[in-house]
Amino acid sequence: MAKIILAVLEQREGKLKRNAFEVISTARMLSNYLDLQPIAICIGNNIDGLGEAAASYGIKNVIHFKSRELENYSPSAYTGIISAYAKEIDAEYLIFSNTSLGRDLAPRTAIRLKAGCLMDCINLHNTNGEVIALRPVYAGKAIMECKINSKVKVFTIRPNVFKTEATEDKVQADIEIREIGSPNLKTKVITVKKSEGTLDVAEADIIVSGGRGLKGPENFKLIEELAEVLGGAVGASRAVVDAGWRSHGEQVGQTGKTVSPKLYIACGISGAIQHLAGMSSSRYIVAINKDKDAPIFNIADYGIAGDVFEIIPALTEEIKKIK
Ligand code: FAD
Repeated sequence: MAKIILAVLEQREGKLKRNAFEVISTARMLSNYLDLQPIAICIGNNIDGLGEAAASYGIKNVIHFKSRELENYSPSAYTGIISAYAKEIDAEYLIFSNTSLGRDLAPRTAIRLKAGCLMDCINLHNTNGEVIALRPVYAGKAIMECKINSKVKVFTIRPNVFKTEATEDKVQADIEIREIGSPNLKTKVITVKKSEGTLDVAEADIIVSGGRGLKGPENFKLIEELAEVLGGAVGASRAVVDAGWRSHGEQVGQTGKTVSPKLYIACGISGAIQHLAGMSSSRYIVAINKDKDAPIFNIADYGIAGDVFEIIPALTEEIKKIK
């Protein structure tokens, strides 16, 4: 019988997160390499298009643990449900996204399953029937190649790095729904206060980030305008978050979010190693800094040595004209 790989899908407010499609595609890719049976698991209340999403990306078997109490993430309940189900079906591989939820949930689940856990993988491949993972370490200064020796193996994959590929032969999904009467909620989310209308840096394809070179919070309107014309999100360095100019949700870096957008524009950011740790895997990096020796230029694909107060408005105007 084929070994099982479990793709753990995230939903928010009943909608699958973008990273869920990356998890499905990665589980399917590994199942092809290693002849595994992929199963997708999702916890929540009503979840839009769950079966269709899994089916279009090639996973036939889907299990939905359903409860109104589970609309929001609960570490105790989610860990209990996933680990019990993984034991029930004897799953050997579990894939999570390396989001804040995945970073919390995957190690908790791994402990319950006595599994090895590799976090923040940027590549998973098959070498002689084993999954070999690549993970950035030392804030992205080195890439570690590693594998898990335990029978059950847990991986989290960095968002925006793994390809999502719909299959040509769409399968008909087979969804099992299990109602959970009284989930094990050690803590309960009562309300979620969110910043309206802003795109999350962790999910954006384009990020325009600002640092201390912006001189003050009022000048972040330049960053917001550029982000808006590009349809991107606003990011920030820790220096400006610590100064109270921007919210922590926008912070990119070692103690903020890890992002891998198609385009990252760093404005007035020096390029400290802790900042680079969160954005160095971006596809294209553009840096604007008036100090031509700033370390950010070492990793930038395009560097503009100049003043943000001249360059950003000019760039925004030019992009508006093109659009
Ligand atoms: P600065 O280092 O002050 O750089 C400002 C830059 O703006 C300079 O390069 C300057 O040349 C340029 N500049 C100034 N004026 C202009 C202008 N008019 N036009 C163009 N350029 C201009 N940092 C993070 O970002 N994210 C993290 O998650 C993070 N985690 C950390 C964790 C730990 C444990 C520690 C110790 C530090 C962490 N840091 C983090 C802080 C990090 O070390 C840096 O202090 C921080 O990234 C610097 O922010 P900055 O680049 O905005 O500011």
